[in-house]
Amino acid sequence: MEARKKLFLIYFMLAGSTFAQSFHNPSLNGAEETSTNLGEVESRENAPDLEFQYHDHDQMTRYLRAVSAKYPELTALYSIGKSVQGRDLWVMVVSVSPYEHMIGKPDVKYVANIHGNEAVGRELLLHLIQYLVTSYATDPYVKWLLDNTRIHLMPSMNPDGFAISREGQCDTIHGRHNARRHDLNRNFPDFFKANTKQPQPETEAVKQWISKIQFVLSGSLHGGALVASYPFDNTPSSMFQNYEHTPSISPDDDVFKHLSLVYSKNHAKMSRGVSCKSGSPRFENGITNGAAWYPLTGGMQDYNYLWHGCMEVTLEISCCKYPPAHELPKYWQDNKQSLIKYLAEVHRGAHGFVMDENNNPVERAAIKIKGRDVNYHTTNFGEFWRILLPGTYRMDISAEGYLPQEVEFIVIDSHPTLLNVTLRSAKRIDGGPYYRPLPPPPRAPPVPTPSTGIFASLTNSFNNMVSNFFG
Ligand SMILES: [Zn+2]
Repeated sequence: MEARKKLFLIYFMLAGSTFAQSFHNPSLNGAEETSTNLGEVESRENAPDLEFQYHDHDQMTRYLRAVSAKYPELTALYSIGKSVQGRDLWVMVVSVSPYEHMIGKPDVKYVANIHGNEAVGRELLLHLIQYLVTSYATDPYVKWLLDNTRIHLMPSMNPDGFAISREGQCDTIHGRHNARRHDLNRNFPDFFKANTKQPQPETEAVKQWISKIQFVLSGSLHGGALVASYPFDNTPSSMFQNYEHTPSISPDDDVFKHLSLVYSKNHAKMSRGVSCKSGSPRFENGITNGAAWYPLTGGMQDYNYLWHGCMEVTLEISCCKYPPAHELPKYWQDNKQSLIKYLAEVHRGAHGFVMDENNNPVERAAIKIKGRDVNYHTTNFGEFWRILLPGTYRMDISAEGYLPQEVEFIVIDSHPTLLNVTLRSAKRIDGGPYYRPLPPPPRAPPVPTPSTGIFASLTNSFNNMVSNFFG
């Protein structure tokens, strides 16, 4: 219970005063409660109006507040910080448990408009909010999703860039950057190369946010192409940047390809892989490895995955970055199914709890699937999630002060595998001599392959970096 309280507190710390305003504004709630007019009562059954038009920051803020007031059981609005020019970075949670993490159930997110002039994702997330809250009572699939998942939706990570962008501009970079002219999707720490860019407030807010909530799955919505682009965005060595279209393969390449295909195949046309215009690339099945398209340093998706074990895919959802508003209904229809089905993929694979002999959660235990050279960690409730395709896996679980364990398990297609692991303390409970874990059996040297070899050689430095970051 103590930990539960702690988490709840974190939300309030994260949310700051704007959060409190959204929920304890007596005039807003009062207006709702005192309404007796029949017409008004009827209108309360519908969501606040949401036109297919672009919403500036104030209009978006009003809409989000109205939804949170109308659907207090299903939504919570919080701000993770402010942009350079002081605009709130809003996040709307949609879930049957909007205020509190559901122990054993995953948190997922979409972030849109990191590039201020890529405007479609921003509006689509508002429509996704509208769709989820109005469908909960009638659509069993949406009900199941919201009953079992906390969905965090950030319509704009770059509200300052959006404020200077112009409707109808398809290909310019005007409005792409934040108010200090930084590209926020080049502003994250990078595993492959040192990122010397000055950290920006929008990026810092997101880093804080994803360090406090264990997100399992994420999508970053962009425009200017029609493709789902998956990690890695960057390459292990600058040498490789000389070769165009060289993929940078992550240890979870099969899973990332699958997630990307879920988006592209549920989209009205993404999987056809048609190029946006002559001269621009076409992508087979509408997906691509990020670096194979073009490598970049400081991107958000590699950071999510390597720092926090959150699988993020970059979703490029419109050939035109800021198309005319009358085209928005078409974009919503094209993406609606994809947006929902993609998030549901968080329920694929294995999840469970790591506990000690007394049934206390083991926090920050390292979870590693054999053959996948990337560490995931348990939450402060001892929870872990690992999205995996059907197959047989072995998993190493280790934590300081405990004997490491290895478990074998099977993942099937139809439902997730629940794995509860008990770690034995490395020390006798009665205070006697320490147990020493047995040294691991000698292993045959790994067979070098181009992809795992490159990654394996970086593992130690990565592990050091990660422990420094958290230590
Ligand atoms: Zn973009």
